[in-house]
Amino acid sequence: MRHRRPRGKPILRCPTCGSDRIIYEAALITGQRYHCLACDYVGSFVVEEDAPPEGS
Ligand SMILES: [Zn+2]
Repeated sequence: MRHRRPRGKPILRCPTCGSDRIIYEAALITGQRYHCLACDYVGSFVVEEDAPPEGS
């Protein structure tokens, strides 16, 4: 079973190229929108991953 850790921000990954260079763009009426800097994917869907805990 998976559950979220309270620590660490989730990593956003591009569903197209798998890069984590995702930036959040201004929301339009459709809601949230993300932009992948690696492949120029733009859309509301991104893959969310749990970040590994840092400093351990
Ligand atoms: Zn991409």
